Formats: sequence, structure tokens, C-alpha cells
Amino acid sequence: MYDLIIIGAGPGGLAAGLYGARAKMKTLVLEKEKMGGQIVSTSEVENYPGSVENATGPSLTKRFTEQAEKFGAEIKMANVKEVNFDGKIKEVVCDNETYKAKSIVIATGASPKKIGCPGEKEFTGKGVSYCATCDADFFEDFEVIVVGGGDSALEEAIYLTKFARKVYLVHRRDTFKACNTVIENTKANDKIEMWLNKEIIEIKGDGILESVVLKDTVTGETSEYFADEDDGTMGVFIFIGFNPQTELFKDKVELRNGYIVTDEEMRTNIDGVFAAGDVREKSLRQVVTAAADGAIAAVNAEKYINENF
Ligand code: NAP
Repeated sequence: MYDLIIIGAGPGGLAAGLYGARAKMKTLVLEKEKMGGQIVSTSEVENYPGSVENATGPSLTKRFTEQAEKFGAEIKMANVKEVNFDGKIKEVVCDNETYKAKSIVIATGASPKKIGCPGEKEFTGKGVSYCATCDADFFEDFEVIVVGGGDSALEEAIYLTKFARKVYLVHRRDTFKACNTVIENTKANDKIEMWLNKEIIEIKGDGILESVVLKDTVTGETSEYFADEDDGTMGVFIFIGFNPQTELFKDKVELRNGYIVTDEEMRTNIDGVFAAGDVREKSLRQVVTAAADGAIAAVNAEKYINENF
């Protein structure tokens, strides 16, 4: 029996782990895939206070993890299949084991959105990528296409210029969601060429990615861009936002537009169940806000246990 089980080991979950364990609660953090969640795909985290040197997603994740473990948080890799929040004691059913706890923090984050065009799935891992830090290396001196107009797309486009010969930024409008500094840095980078009012409608190739079909969102005209003949292939990096990972929690806690609804204390509509980070309905999804949510959730879980057990 745990005091606190945290589902998800991104910045929100690991901060909850740190605060939970530091408050001497018996704390378990469950992660199904990779520690760190989305930040492991982030090349540079420049805006987390204090992350000045070596501020890559993986390096921050390592520090978050070590710190939570140092205070006694148990971290396990396990795929959660089902949750039962009906009773006072909550159950978390994993592939091989069922864990019980007095309180829960849901910190499952969000996963990258897909374009949904023909060829995207087929070429994932063979040219199509959702993670520049993971795959930029493969495109050293090749051409790459980056899709999206938010902070992720523009920041990763800049990062990719350290590897790729040329970066084409495909965005479906001619204005951006990204913040002004990032837009300015992108425009100032002479390795980046913007293809605005364009969207990718097909990704093609024979075994390897060879071309993309683009549609002009204003005129409706289509065109095909082929990889340089000498290269034979190119990369397509897609950064068009995220979907909350709330499949498991449908009908278990209140959701709105797919995100978990909480109050300022990170309480969901179910007693003893809290949520933190990008999975939560909120206005600013950043490492710093996820970590803050995690801290608030764990502190309130402790209060809840003191008052109810
Ligand atoms: P985002 O801000 O939601 O931007 C998604 C972009 O993808 C938008 O420009 C959108 O176009 C485009 N898009 C969406 N669906 C598309 C589709 N089907 N086909 C083509 N384009 C599509 O997502 P994000 O950039 O991943 O950022 C998510 C959150 O994390 C934001 O709050 C962002 O500020 C934050 N973030 C912050 C930092 C940082 O502060 N350093 C870094 C990364 C992310 P439209 O503009 O036309 O809708």
C-alpha cells in the first residue's frame, strides 16, 4: 500500500514524486515509456529557471529523477492498463501487478499530434520523426522539412540547422503561434527557408522517404518536393501540438476537451485524485508549470491523507 501513486514521470510527475517522498509519504512513480515525457524530445530547455548550462531535456530529466529518488521515491517502469478510483483506496492495474494507494496524481502528459496524411505512419522512423534530439543526427548534411508554426516547430527548426544542410519550415498559415523572440530567431537563421500557407498532404517514397506532396492552403494548388538526387532521402519533422493522454481516465475523472479538469489545488472531481502537468486543462504548458503543478498536487495529496486516513 502506497500513500501516493503518481502515473507518469515527466516534470509534473517527478516533481510530485520529489514533494511526496520529501514529505515522507510512501511514494511510487509509474512510467510506461521513457522518463521525462515530452522534454526528452526537447533539445534545449532555456526557460526553466536555473537551467542555464547543459539544459537539454534529457539532462534535466536525469536531475529530476535523481532528486526524487534521493528522497525515497520509488520509480517503476510499468504500463498502467486500468485504474479504479471508486473506493477510498485507489487501485492502479499494470500489466503484471496491481498497486494500491491512498491518493493518486495523474501526470500522463500529452503525446505528439499526427498530420494524419498518407505515408506519415509508413515512414515514421524512416524519415518521419517527432523528436529532433532523437533523430537529428541521421540527417547530418541532408535537407529536412519541419512542420508547424508553434514554439516547438520553430525552436526545433533552429536546432536542426546544427545538423541539416537546409531546413524548410512548412506552416499552414502566414502568422505563427510561437513567441516573438523565437519567430525573430527563426527568420534570422539563413539555413531556414519558410514555406508558408502550405500543408503536407502526402509523404511518399519507395522504402525510404523520397518526396512530400504539398498543398497551398490559400490557392489549393498542389506541388511535390523531391529529396535531392544525391541525398536520396530527407527528414520530415512534425511538431504540430499534442494530445492529452487521458484514454485511461475517461469516465473516471471529469475531462473537458480531453484534458483533466482540476481546481487550483490540482484536485480532480474525485476525492484523493489529483492531476498535474500537460494532461490538465490549463493555459500555459511548460516544464516550469508542470513542475509547479506536481508540487501542489503532492502537497494536497498529503493534506488529503492527513484529513481522511
Ligand atoms: P502549438 O503551440 O499548439 O502549435 C501547433 C502548431 O502546429 C500551430 O502553428 C498549428 O497551426 C500547427 N498545426 C496544428 N495542427 C496541424 C495540422 N494538422 N497540420 C499542420 N499544422 C498543424 O504546439 P507546440 O508548438 O507543440 O507547443 C505546445 C505548447 O508548448 C505551447 O503552449 C508552447 O508555447 C509550449 N512550448 C513552449 C516552449 C518554450 O517556451 N520554450 C517550447 C515548446 C513548446 P495553427 O497556428 O494554424 O493552428
